[in-house]
Amino acid sequence: MNKTAIITGASKGIGKSIAENFAFRGYNVIINYNSSAKEAFELEKLLKSQGLSAFAFKADVSVRAEVDAMVDFCMEKFNAIDVLVNNAGISVSNLFTDITETEWDSVFGTNLKGVFNCTQSVLRYMLPNKKGKIINISSMWGLVGGSCEVHYSAAKAGVIGFTKALAKELGPSNIQVNCIAPGVIQTDMLSDYTDEELEVLRYDTPLMRLGKPHNIAASALFLASDDADFITGHVLSVNGGYVV
Ligand code: NAP
Repeated sequence: MNKTAIITGASKGIGKSIAENFAFRGYNVIINYNSSAKEAFELEKLLKSQGLSAFAFKADVSVRAEVDAMVDFCMEKFNAIDVLVNNAGISVSNLFTDITETEWDSVFGTNLKGVFNCTQSVLRYMLPNKKGKIINISSMWGLVGGSCEVHYSAAKAGVIGFTKALAKELGPSNIQVNCIAPGVIQTDMLSDYTDEELEVLRYDTPLMRLGKPHNIAASALFLASDDADFITGHVLSVNGGYVV
């Protein structure tokens, strides 16, 4: 029987690539989106046209009621949730002294509270099954801190702490919780960077190139697979050597 995965923030970038890769590997996928409905439904249509199993569903991950509705929708459609990929995220660059309370809450709401909401919601179904995989997308800035991204770095460091603590708590329930910490990956998240700034980031990456969304998708597929059954609480750096 096909496995089922919910991918948050799958309308664009890394999440879109994860949804595509999982669908092509035979997973039923829920393509979660918040504001990019057109992109999410285009992806659903594209995957369905290839005979694959996918549904787009709108839910702001920072709003628990919307998350619960998405998870219940997944159960209605597929009667299973095997994998949750907590990928939805936003990044905002700002001097620490200029960060507003609203901006702080927004960055934490999506990047960290979203992980809490989605994970607690799917556990309603994973725990009774004593089986499941939770994969959180953090960032290398959650490992080492990024200047002018204190809120983003703090939220992503929180995702790492969340991963390790929950891995210990859910181990006896045979649910693996792991984390991927990407380096610089070419998506819309980099749209505010100038070509010169991107060139500096490329130069600072020992592999001398920026990452592609499929680099993250390949790692997520591995962590979701049976081959990763004995891995939990791990932070997998996929960053071209930028942070080692
Ligand atoms: P992206 O291209 O900007 O895509 C972000 C995705 O998150 C979109 O699909 C967006 O959906 C979704 N999203 C944002 N807020 C949401 C919310 N409240 N509820 C549900 N979905 C929401 O960014 P990306 O580069 O693919 O980033 C994906 C993840 O990787 C993020 O967690 C990011 O922090 C992390 N990451 C990225 C990089 C990088 O260099 N790109 C590096 C390290 C870590 P809508 O457009 O539909 O709202």
